[in-house]
Amino acid sequence: MKFLLNENKHIPLKKDVDIVMYEIKPFPDLSWSLSRHKTMLTCLRKYAYDYYVSHNGWLSQADTLSRQAYRLKKMTNLEMHFGSIVHDLIYQAIQRCLKNQSIPSQEDFIDEVRHHLNRGFIESTKKEHLWQNRPKHYTMLHEIYYSQTDTLPESKVRKITDRLQRTVKNFYSSQTFTDVIDKENMRFIESETFRFMKTEGIKLFVVMDLVYKDLKRNKWIIVDWKTGKSSEEDRNQLALYALYLQQKHNIESLDDIVIRNEYLVSGEHIEHQLTEQDLINVQHLYQMSIEQMKLYLEDPAQNKPLPIEQFPMQDDPRTCARCNYQELCFPS
Ligand code: SF4
Repeated sequence: MKFLLNENKHIPLKKDVDIVMYEIKPFPDLSWSLSRHKTMLTCLRKYAYDYYVSHNGWLSQADTLSRQAYRLKKMTNLEMHFGSIVHDLIYQAIQRCLKNQSIPSQEDFIDEVRHHLNRGFIESTKKEHLWQNRPKHYTMLHEIYYSQTDTLPESKVRKITDRLQRTVKNFYSSQTFTDVIDKENMRFIESETFRFMKTEGIKLFVVMDLVYKDLKRNKWIIVDWKTGKSSEEDRNQLALYALYLQQKHNIESLDDIVIRNEYLVSGEHIEHQLTEQDLINVQHLYQMSIEQMKLYLEDPAQNKPLPIEQFPMQDDPRTCARCNYQELCFPS
């Protein structure tokens, strides 16, 4: 396995310390997020598994299908796993910096990412039984699970190894990290916090990587770290962030908000100045999207979904090949 390096350093990632109190309900609350919307567009059957069938699947007394769907929902792939490790370690580096603690060197950062990649690989190949019972706490890579081999595609390993070096170097030299280190000119607001707004009683989740006030420019800066390529959806995502920030902090003018995408693979950063029209567009998007989600409810008051057969499956085999739910849709 190519990522293998130093095994003795370990900073716990957030998933290791995540403790959530919850109430057991037969159906989840209806909520909205951009990723939920994208899932609905990708495949309605996947949408049903992700947002309904897997509900309560974390409980030992849940039925077999819910538990299986929940387990499969928690499966990741190499690119996503890499992105999530990098996001967590960036979060930790920024927190350390803000608390005036020492920050890891680039070499230590790279070693730490490798350590977590290795751990994910070992858990996927050698500890499937642990993942089967506690899928939130162990990693299962799609590439391993569905190939039934103990090796990752060589091309993917090369891609991630190359991305790792560039991503870390670009993070350390990024405009955002430079501002964080030079604390004089910034006021930290929040970092990677799960936030929501409400529309007609429905929560709209907004996950922002970092928000701070640039005191020199007198602007609010919203940062989104990207460990993959840019996409057309980036602007909608950013408009949603701006809408949230504007409402939460009563910001009068959109001109006071700068939205920054830090593309860590290429080292570019792009700042967007959004217009009122961008905010109107994203409001239309979530309103229409929520209406569409409601069409798949048997009982809207309880958010009880229609039977699973009424969520159409995807026709494109390429989409299914990347999907976590293959074993449910195409049992062998
Ligand atoms: S395997 Fe295909 S049809 Fe089934 S949920 Fe996934 S994308 Fe949809």
